[in-house]
Amino acid sequence: MKKLVVGNWKMNGSLAANAAFLSGMGEVAGVDVALCVPYPYLAQLQKTSCSFGLGAQDVSEYAAGAYTGEVSAAMLGEFDCRYTIVGHSERRALFGDDDQVVARKAKASLSAGIVPIVCVGETLAERDAGAVHAVISRQLSAVHAVLGSGLLGAVVLAYEPVWAIGTGRSASASEVEEVHGGIRAWLAAQGVDAEGVRVLYGGSVKPENAAELFSMPSVDGGLIGGASLVVGDFMAICRAAAGV
Ligand code: PEP
Repeated sequence: MKKLVVGNWKMNGSLAANAAFLSGMGEVAGVDVALCVPYPYLAQLQKTSCSFGLGAQDVSEYAAGAYTGEVSAAMLGEFDCRYTIVGHSERRALFGDDDQVVARKAKASLSAGIVPIVCVGETLAERDAGAVHAVISRQLSAVHAVLGSGLLGAVVLAYEPVWAIGTGRSASASEVEEVHGGIRAWLAAQGVDAEGVRVLYGGSVKPENAAELFSMPSVDGGLIGGASLVVGDFMAICRAAAGV
């Protein structure tokens, strides 16, 4: 399976800065690349000829109607979105997206033919308490309860330890491998084809540590925050994914 590298620009960008970024994007063979950008920039990126998949950073759990401020999966489909990020730890911590909301957003995304990138991961306190697998199992169980085993096999998962996001402190390659192994074991126990599900790692991935993280057998790519804002760094991470 080809690795997948997804940039998450978060609430960053401008029409001018995006254009400069896109002019520096090259094509990298042997890896799937995607950019998840703020909603207003989807049209700008849709018009570019680069060979990356387009994605959004969230999606409404509702299909249509009186939900001021929400954006539906069908609307994202009109901009050729292939991916949505659901359950990012910033959404969980700052905007009240709990396990059940995350599960319904994943379902809404799949209903429109868009692959949800479902983020899971523990806080530092949870890791220190030895609760990593319990937390991730709880997060995954909520998604499983709504999607069932068949549709769960169609999502991309991203293991993003909260303590590693935007902190400059990545999890070590062996820590990541251990958690990804646990995720695959959990998927297999639910009857999901665990080897067919891409499991990405996210949390302070940089050009300097990307190759080592991507060399782990259970790591199918990365979800990249800060380093996806600098086109040279993002391209270097994509090349690292293609090279292993
Ligand atoms: C993220 O926002 O998903 C992320 C992993 O951020 P960073 O790469 O900046 O840690």
